[in-house]
Amino acid sequence: MTAKLIDGKAIAASIRGEIATEVEQLVASGGRRPGLATIIVGEDPASAVYVANKHKACDEVGFLGFHHELPGPSPFEAVASLIAELNSDSAVDGILLQLPVPDSLDGGRLTSLISPDKDVDGLTATSAGLLALGRKGLRPCTPSGAVELLDRTGVELEGAEVVIVGRSDLVGKPLASMCLERNATVTVCHSRTRNLQGVAQRADILIAAVGVPNLIKGDWVKEGATVIDVGINRTEAGLVGDVDFNEASQRAAFITPVPGGVGPMTIAMLLRNTLAAYGSMA
Ligand code: NAD
Repeated sequence: MTAKLIDGKAIAASIRGEIATEVEQLVASGGRRPGLATIIVGEDPASAVYVANKHKACDEVGFLGFHHELPGPSPFEAVASLIAELNSDSAVDGILLQLPVPDSLDGGRLTSLISPDKDVDGLTATSAGLLALGRKGLRPCTPSGAVELLDRTGVELEGAEVVIVGRSDLVGKPLASMCLERNATVTVCHSRTRNLQGVAQRADILIAAVGVPNLIKGDWVKEGATVIDVGINRTEAGLVGDVDFNEASQRAAFITPVPGGVGPMTIAMLLRNTLAAYGSMA
């Protein structure tokens, strides 16, 4: 079998198009534009690029972007007071604190100060709790992107054996809750899992979120499975995922490439969360 490619770049572009249309309709009917505020503390070059890309995407769909930069040595209280200000700013629907923050600050504690209504990254304990309880709330962007790719490809989650490799708070754990919410049978694997290959071979939908280049080999993939590769690893050969793409695509029915799979979906889901947060404020 040769897998069909799940084109995350094209799917993300069509989601951005749908959002832009919705924003134009809102504005045409006299509504204000949705607003996303970003905060960077310190001077991490990678964070600057990520945040610039998020603002570019905001511009494209007609959102307002508000960017705040604080110096690296800022005290906790300075960041906390900026978050408090944005929490009560009615032009701001979503707040994103770009992680990591400098070591002198507690990124988790700062994130938890974001109002759950504006937590468009879905990373506060409240958002995580709502997800775990299967209640309405803002969901983390990367796992939402993975689920959206499955939906838009027509891959059925209900009743499917889903194996997720990786149990991070950012990807693996929320993704497991989202797949459970959709009535999949979910197994979560991690660095201490015994016989990872054997577990992976059971999967109708195999999702890798590990950060180890080409960990998942072709013969770990059940014939006809769907493979979603969340991993982004910089190697001498360029960007690669956690799945050996050449091998796995000989056995899978559908597979995401790296780059161009889950990656572009993360920002699309951030925009969608911001629009949802706007909707709940309106
Ligand atoms: P993390 O380091 O927080 O978690 C990695 C997980 O993999 C852990 O649960 C660990 O137990 C597990 N693991 C590590 N080695 C393993 C092994 N040999 N076998 C089985 N499990 C193993 O990473 P993360 O933040 O979840 O990110 C995972 C990958 O996804 C990274 O490559 C990251 O760059 C990528 N990522 C991509 C996006 C995106 O937008 N596409 C977003 C976030 C993360």
